[in-house]
Amino acid sequence: MEDANCNIDPVNLDSLNYQKVGRHNNPKGTEIDVHGIKIGGKDIVIMAGPCAVENERQLLTTAGAVHELGGNILRGGAFKPRSSPYSFQGLEEEGLKLLKKAREKTSLPVITEVMDTRAVEMVSTYADIIQVGSRNMHNYPLLKEVGQCRKPVMLKRGMNATIDEYLLAAEYILDGGNEQVILCERGIRSFETAYRNTMDLNAVPMLKKLTHLPVIVDPSHGTGRDWMVPALAKAAIAVGADGLLIEVHYDPKSALCDGPQSLSIRQFSQLMQDLKSLTKALGRSLIVTESALA
Ligand code: PEP
Ligand code: MN
Repeated sequence: MEDANCNIDPVNLDSLNYQKVGRHNNPKGTEIDVHGIKIGGKDIVIMAGPCAVENERQLLTTAGAVHELGGNILRGGAFKPRSSPYSFQGLEEEGLKLLKKAREKTSLPVITEVMDTRAVEMVSTYADIIQVGSRNMHNYPLLKEVGQCRKPVMLKRGMNATIDEYLLAAEYILDGGNEQVILCERGIRSFETAYRNTMDLNAVPMLKKLTHLPVIVDPSHGTGRDWMVPALAKAAIAVGADGLLIEVHYDPKSALCDGPQSLSIRQFSQLMQDLKSLTKALGRSLIVTESALA
């Protein structure tokens, strides 16, 4: 017998459920302008750099390569949310100062994570985009604090968060008055242990349907394995992502954090080459910026 409910969307999500992030507020999609780099437009943005800022040589060497190979935004954590308290926790303000130096040398805008409401003011003086990480997606005081900021915020999906919980977390930031929010799918926890997370690429078309916010994909944390990153990066663009967040290290074996998922400069170079032809085939292109901060 035919199931009377077979045409009902089992999740029943609707843009109208989301007062501010709902697609109905801006059906064409929101573009976020970071020093002339338009995130959420026709072209694909590449954010790349080390997981953590470790020292001047590591950051400047990696940042120089990211810039030369066509990356648009430099990433690097100064405050690291580590599972173990005995792991490297980040250089904190010293790391932010190194990001400032790399920013000046390469003219790449920077994205870096904030974990604590008390550090939001300091981080926002150094960062062009503030990152709220997966573990803090449910940290409502932090969401409210970055909602008061006038810098763009990239909110990563909680590793155990549903799409609905994720969009409601983004809603907090917009409701605080900050409309410059970028979403980032970074993989979710599943029963599978063969890779670090399960890269939920279903999220991309779903988020694009439900919200007007730009959607970035992070295949580095999504897979946890350098050799898987290029395949998932390409898949992310094919399903409609507005850009990628890629961990790159000039010497992944020596990385203090997330070495196994970090691309070497050679691997990153190959990926950028592949993305050029892929984006073209999809009627899009990589954003080209000579000197974003000039
Ligand atoms: C990161 O991007 O550095 C990071 C810690 O990622 P996530 O919050 O997705 O684990
Ligand atoms: Mn990392």
